[in-house]
Amino acid sequence: MAAQPLLPGAVIGVLGSGQLGRMLALEARRMGYRVHVLSPGVDTPTGQVADLEVEAPYEHLAAVAAFARRVDVVTFEFENVPARSAEVAAEHAPVRPAGRVLHTTQNRLREKTFLAGGGFPVAPFRRVASGDELAAALAEIGTPAVLKTAGWGYDGKGQEKIDDASEAAAAWGRLETAQRGVRGAKKDAPVEAVLEGFIDFECEVSVVAARGLDGSFAHYGLMANDHADHILDVSVTPAPVPPEVTAEAVELARGVFDALDVVGVACVEMFLGRDGHLLVNEIAPRPHNSGHLTIEAAPASQFEQQLRAVCGLPLGDSEIVRPAAMANLLGDLWRGGEPDWAAALAVPGVALHLYGKKDPRPGRKMGHVTALADTVEEARAKVLAARRALTERA
Ligand code: AMP
Repeated sequence: MAAQPLLPGAVIGVLGSGQLGRMLALEARRMGYRVHVLSPGVDTPTGQVADLEVEAPYEHLAAVAAFARRVDVVTFEFENVPARSAEVAAEHAPVRPAGRVLHTTQNRLREKTFLAGGGFPVAPFRRVASGDELAAALAEIGTPAVLKTAGWGYDGKGQEKIDDASEAAAAWGRLETAQRGVRGAKKDAPVEAVLEGFIDFECEVSVVAARGLDGSFAHYGLMANDHADHILDVSVTPAPVPPEVTAEAVELARGVFDALDVVGVACVEMFLGRDGHLLVNEIAPRPHNSGHLTIEAAPASQFEQQLRAVCGLPLGDSEIVRPAAMANLLGDLWRGGEPDWAAALAVPGVALHLYGKKDPRPGRKMGHVTALADTVEEARAKVLAARRALTERA
């Protein structure tokens, strides 16, 4: 028998308290739901707009159990919640997407093995767990190649590009050193990594989509993503690629969602090679930075879709109604003092999102701006003009 949908008034439990949870909570509250959030922080971006903020480490199983008992469904905005915590939560409330989705996607080796096993196109890769294995893998895959830690790493951390086999030992040493500096990593745990062939891509693209409890699927087409220093900088949609590339990317994403049995929102990040072929790079089992522009550009944003999906409701309308662009606002913009918000908002049609974070560290995602226009290039020009205006004091 199909589960009854969770209707307005139900309590959504969110593990993780950053901007993704905040934007989910804002949508949930708009639609009459209540939101509880658990994370190790207080006065967090999500907590500021939730009904209840619980401060506890994700590993505190008793706290996770108590949290799950008080909500109607548990979802995530942070994908590195330990699998055991998701299991414990699932004893008390439905967990969507299921902990097994997190388990697969939070380790690059498991993720790549799942993708390759499912017949999805990925860059050639090998598991490496020692300097000797790295040398052997380099001999097979060739250079240039990218070495990535399997179990952690984000925004370019835990990654080494290797241009020549002679650099292997030094790259392995840097990865070991980096792992010792990671919060929560076991100091002497052996390093497990993936060596991937370096892809000479035309551009990076992503499909953000939702899958309902009944297997229904709703996507926003293709986003084109520019990175700066390994951090997403600007996303635009529709991606300026031939329509058959978009169609192929959407079908790849649909296949990944079905194979993983995702209930919720996820993003499939891909490389579009210069040869016109798509390769799946990674899966984020939650709303994604490249989908933020759906708040303005689609009738149902990625956050509304996440809410609908985890509540077992019909998915909303994900049509992109106008070309759109989004530019991230990183902590670096605060270097010369508080950014000039009024100047940015003077750019017609720009929407400002700030996440309520107090400490604007360089590289930290503090907010974003979105604009819609007749073309993606116009939309891009608007968000870039707004971002420039933040620091261009007369
Ligand atoms: P990831 O953490 O896997 O998303 O990688 C971060 C960024 O590094 C990607 O967005 C790409 O810009 C770049 N990158 C990762 N893997 C590769 C690869 N195999 N070839 C070329 N660039 C890569």
